Amino acid sequence: MCGCDVAENGQLCAECWGKFNWIGHPLCSICGYPFPADLDLGPHPMCPVCAAGKNELDWLRSACVYDDVSKSVMLPFKHASALKYRDLMAKSMINALRDAPPFDIVMPVPLSCQRLFKRGYNQATLLARPIARHFNVAMDVGSVKRRHRADMGHKTYRQRHDNIRGVFHVANPNRVRGRTILIVDDVMTSGATFAELRKVLKKAGARAIYGVTFCRVVKAI
Ligand SMILES: [Zn+2]
Ligand SMILES: [Zn+2]
Repeated sequence: MCGCDVAENGQLCAECWGKFNWIGHPLCSICGYPFPADLDLGPHPMCPVCAAGKNELDWLRSACVYDDVSKSVMLPFKHASALKYRDLMAKSMINALRDAPPFDIVMPVPLSCQRLFKRGYNQATLLARPIARHFNVAMDVGSVKRRHRADMGHKTYRQRHDNIRGVFHVANPNRVRGRTILIVDDVMTSGATFAELRKVLKKAGARAIYGVTFCRVVKAI
């Protein structure tokens, strides 16, 4: 990030590393929501959302909090082909997955054909590939298709949920039936995309849906 020399690709110098708000314990054992560091909540803490059974996924982790620093990596990676950040993002996501329960398939959040054509790459696929390789599981990029919808960039939480409804369909149910699937994305904002993906995958017979993102919006709950 600052341009100084490091030992290998995807590493940060200590100064740049320290600028991120990395998510560590204590956190919600289901959705990974970070709790204040001075809270001792026992071995399996749960946030109020998960305790009420309203979580978007069956298990979720993110490497860091969405803020100006993580945004300065994530947005150029997503929109401006700043692929030099891929190793940093993927490695920190693999680290966030260190206590992950077992999963069978790694699945990047699909882009619509139109968006894929315009951008030239799916940023989630670029992150999913090294994760699948690290855990030695198959990556699935074709079983779920996404219809094209207007961009969700500046919409409210409610509008995001409405806009995403019905956008995914499972083209190949045989490949997801009975499987535990880890969905990969660069950022989690409202969780609407994950919730919708879980809905269609569960309907197609998937057993459990986990997720991992580089960063996530953390709101007070
Ligand atoms: Zn640096
Ligand atoms: Zn939770």
